[in-house]
Amino acid sequence: MSMFTMDIREWEQAYREQARDAAARFFEELKNGKILGYKCKACGRVYVPPVPLCACGSRNFEEFYSEGEGVIETFTICFERVSGYPDPPFVLALIRLDNSEIAFPHVVTGVDLSDINKALSVLRVGARVRALLKSERKGSMLDFKGFKLV
Ligand SMILES: [Zn+2]
Repeated sequence: MSMFTMDIREWEQAYREQARDAAARFFEELKNGKILGYKCKACGRVYVPPVPLCACGSRNFEEFYSEGEGVIETFTICFERVSGYPDPPFVLALIRLDNSEIAFPHVVTGVDLSDINKALSVLRVGARVRALLKSERKGSMLDFKGFKLV
């Protein structure tokens, strides 16, 4: 599964369509405040969020809960107002949780963007982040408040 959109809602829609039951499980657990992953029993590959079919061809997974830590794979600073996103400027990134084969777009929070050069000294590819979950969750990617640099 490769999905390159940086729009969180577009990504979620494509993910739900492609991952179906695995996506439903992920969002069910996310609503409970847990970040579900799948580990392939055949080859050991890890997927957070889970997918129904491993790159090795297996559909045999064991479930586990991710600690919600990972890295920024790529990022962009958005200066335009986008409905549903934080007030600009804000940071949008592709987040890859630890060991996961797949990445997903989300907001990086807690970065002072008043001085972009200063922000770019802490925002970098490979920077570690940790998931922040909202206290009220509905079972969607927007249950993540964002990802905070650690
Ligand atoms: Zn596999």
